[in-house]
Amino acid sequence: MIALENVSKTYGNHVALAPLTLHFPARQTTALIGESGSGKSTLLRLLLGLIVPDSGTALFDGVALDRSNRDEIRHRVGYVIQDGGLFPHLTAEANIILLARHLRRDPEWVSSRIATLAELVHLSPETLRHYPRQLSGGQRQRVGLMRALMLDPDVLLLDEPLGALDPVTRFGLQQELKTIFATLGKTVVLVTHDVGEAAYFSDTLVLLRGGKVVQQGSVADFLERPVDPYVTEFVRAQRGLPPETAH
Ligand code: ADP
Ligand code: MG
Repeated sequence: MIALENVSKTYGNHVALAPLTLHFPARQTTALIGESGSGKSTLLRLLLGLIVPDSGTALFDGVALDRSNRDEIRHRVGYVIQDGGLFPHLTAEANIILLARHLRRDPEWVSSRIATLAELVHLSPETLRHYPRQLSGGQRQRVGLMRALMLDPDVLLLDEPLGALDPVTRFGLQQELKTIFATLGKTVVLVTHDVGEAAYFSDTLVLLRGGKVVQQGSVADFLERPVDPYVTEFVRAQRGLPPETAH
């Protein structure tokens, strides 16, 4: 469904992503994990065509992303960032329908789509009349998700969508999101720095370090068949376990 082939990205003389090839299976959730600065957001932006790679190609359904098809393909991808990324001067609803309006979608279709999505993410019509600052963090994230799903995209890219939430809200929304992903059957790439969250959402984890893929595999692979000591180090640090003692 979506893939990166030999894609690299450098900022000045800093390598954000070394040439890497990754395939994201259709209708599954893949979690991208890694320390801050490891290249997770850059990778997502490349998949979305928000930034252009120095080399290589981002592929969408086998089609290379370029200037000519970028806008059209972007409309088939939902993108959610930390804290929702909503425009503060627009109500929740206005944020959600912005792109559909711009594309002159039928107003009746837009209304019925909003109703469906509000039900899916458990938001009341009243909440949708509020401005982002009047919403809780969890509500903003739900609105961000509605906006991303508005055009019924094939692909959802989520960049630390739950990162700004308190643990209780986060826990609840994790469960709901998992159900939503399973119901919708979309191809999802979810960035998180939390291994537990990654394992909860995904069958496949991709660990990045310094712009390179350290390992791609299941949680069991990471725990039982780490390809590099860093994999174990990363997982342990996350789980708060003490470092392995020498025997
Ligand atoms: P992550 O999302 O894993 O925290 P990023 O993809 O945001 O990491 O960044 C990867 C590396 O690229 C970091 O070292 C970051 O400082 C650098 N970087 C990202 N975006 C830019 C930019 N627009 N200009 C310069 N450096 C950038
Ligand atoms: Mg990031």
